[in-house]
Amino acid sequence: MNWWKGLKSKISFREPLKKHTSFKIGGPAEFFIEPKDENDLRLLLIVTKKNNMPVLLLGAGSNILAGDKGVKAAVLKLNALSFKKISFKDSHLEAGSGLMLGQIVKAAQDHGLSGIEFLAGIPGTVGGALIMNAGAWGKNIGDAVSRVKVMDYNGKVKVLKRKDIKFAYRSSSLEKFIILSADFKLSKRNKKEIKEDIKMLVQRRRGTQDLCSPSAGCIFKNPEGGSAGRLIDLCGLKGKTQGRAYISSKHANFILNQGGARAADVLKLMDLAQKKVKTKFKLTLKPEIKIWH
Ligand SMILES: Cc1cc2nc3c(=O)[nH]c(=O)nc-3n(C[C@H](O)[C@H](O)[C@H](O)COP(=O)(O)OP(=O)(O)OC[C@H]3O[C@@H](n4cnc5c(N)ncnc54)[C@H](O)[C@@H]3O)c2cc1C
Repeated sequence: MNWWKGLKSKISFREPLKKHTSFKIGGPAEFFIEPKDENDLRLLLIVTKKNNMPVLLLGAGSNILAGDKGVKAAVLKLNALSFKKISFKDSHLEAGSGLMLGQIVKAAQDHGLSGIEFLAGIPGTVGGALIMNAGAWGKNIGDAVSRVKVMDYNGKVKVLKRKDIKFAYRSSSLEKFIILSADFKLSKRNKKEIKEDIKMLVQRRRGTQDLCSPSAGCIFKNPEGGSAGRLIDLCGLKGKTQGRAYISSKHANFILNQGGARAADVLKLMDLAQKKVKTKFKLTLKPEIKIWH
């Protein structure tokens, strides 16, 4: 019997992940499922568990390298409208996990609420950003959040307070949950000033990051006290190519897909950078991106 019968979800089979990752890389997901709402998501978790089908959550796919052979899993994307609700109460903004960060930054600006401007230009969803504790310019999303609504992998929903969540550099204790929505505590500020700050931050981003070809942003986390990009640069690897992938000449912690790159090419470049940095500086570069095999 087909386990997915009876679900209200949108389901595709052998869906190419390269269509859903910012890297434009990745083979097929055995099942690609967009649950309709929380209840459908809960039923989905129950049936996938019963059928021993691994589940992977996908946000905007902006921090994922999916393998060339794809994944034998049900990849879930919280793309339905019920996961994209946004509401305001006093100086709080509540956002569904499927919303893009750009959407909540703009909505906060329109309401004259400040505190998440630093997220402008990060191409992720609320859910993916909370898992990664995404951030920029010395601030991280964990600093702005006050509550997170999650579902565990048995389908149980709970609301976690900020003090019950651990956020660290590009990681959080939320990894064992599915993020449903989050509440941000913001403060009132002049709309024009917020708009100007956002504009300035997006311009600064354009000046430092290499946005000319598909990528997953920074490949490695910065080692303590150092910059992964600078270390890779000092190893002379800027511009190094492997197949159709190459290390950016502008920002050495970016690997770019110049069209048709394979995950295997990216992994080879990562391995090269890790080996060279280890030999030259005795430092270990750890991936920031999530690798799906
Ligand atoms: C050009 C570019 C620039 C970038 N700049 C920055 C930057 O300045 N700062 C920064 O921190 N990052 C940056 N990134 C990386 C990336 O955008 C962030 O990590 C982003 O938060 C990932 O969000 P996502 O929705 O794309 O998550 P995905 O990449 O889809 O997933 C990331 C992780 O979150 C999990 N996940 C996603 N949604 C959910 C959910 N609802 N519930 C549970 N788990 C979930 C996934 O399983 C995966 O483990 C950049 C990336 C690019 C391509």
